[in-house]
Amino acid sequence: MPPPSSISCVVPCLNEEANLKVLLPGLIAALKALAPAFEIIVVDDGSSDGTSHTLAGWAQEHPQVVYLQLSRNFGKEAALSAGLEAARGQVVVCMDADLQHPPALISTMLERWQEGVEMVYAVRATRDDESVFKRLGTKLFYKMMRTSGGPQVPENAGDFRLMDRAVVDALLMLPERNRFMKGLFAWVGFRAEPIYYSPPERLHGTTRFKPIKLFRFAIDGITAFTTWPLRLLSVSGASLSVVSFAYGLYVVINHWLYGDPVQGWTTLITVVLFFAGVNLLSIGVLGEYVARIFGEVKNRPVYLLRQRVGAGLDDVPMPS
Ligand code: UDP
Ligand code: MG
Repeated sequence: MPPPSSISCVVPCLNEEANLKVLLPGLIAALKALAPAFEIIVVDDGSSDGTSHTLAGWAQEHPQVVYLQLSRNFGKEAALSAGLEAARGQVVVCMDADLQHPPALISTMLERWQEGVEMVYAVRATRDDESVFKRLGTKLFYKMMRTSGGPQVPENAGDFRLMDRAVVDALLMLPERNRFMKGLFAWVGFRAEPIYYSPPERLHGTTRFKPIKLFRFAIDGITAFTTWPLRLLSVSGASLSVVSFAYGLYVVINHWLYGDPVQGWTTLITVVLFFAGVNLLSIGVLGEYVARIFGEVKNRPVYLLRQRVGAGLDDVPMPS
């Protein structure tokens, strides 16, 4: 395939002023060499540093930079959705603002796209830089996502990826409010292939995804794409009922046949507490799903835009 007529680059950011000042000049230079027309859509997800001021200025000076400011912090997934909706390019690249997603990889991704791959996603080659705890958690998460018959979310693939217009249009058709992008990327299918890279350290600042937020994020993904927790409860309920019935039968028969006076406060309290725990856990799991349904039926927009600066590819005719 020939090189693309236009590229959109979507960069969600939350308080990334220092990083953007380094990323944007490099990205503009990289994209200039790759396509005749391009746009960089910086989605400001409710930053409270100078991101807004700097970026609005950049967007006015550089016709290729579009600045989208959300009305508050909606989360990275919502910011990505905002950027994808605004993107007009024939191919669209999603990347982080902290330089952990090197712009130099875009040309490699583009080569794969020219070979006919519709989605090229970057997979981190190692997680050696992370704690044992985080690595174990991540492994468990991917296992839980995959044992469900749901979309096959590739392990260690982040949001750094290049997509064909067809993939972006498919993503935009999905109506859900809970936009767990890793799952949605996998769900839409298409010809997707990985490329491997070693992410450098974050240039400035620290990660916005602390352990508790990551845990909540994982629960979002699991409840959005799998129903095995519900099935697990049904199966455990059924098994526990059978075991309890058998044990009850044993106690009654023992009493009738052998006149056993049925002592056992210890057994009783253990069983009562155990079942109380299982009941509460089940209600909790059920509640997680009900909460998601609640979130979906309210049908609120995924994000709200405060302002847009710059026309980007809106000024360039769309490829037919
Ligand atoms: N980000 C965002 N909204 C948020 C949190 C993060 O737009 O609520 C952006 C952030 O500015 C960065 C990208 O998402 O560009 C990835 O965030 P981070 O580097 O903190 O995550 P990590 O690399 O640790 O997964
Ligand atoms: Mg990062």
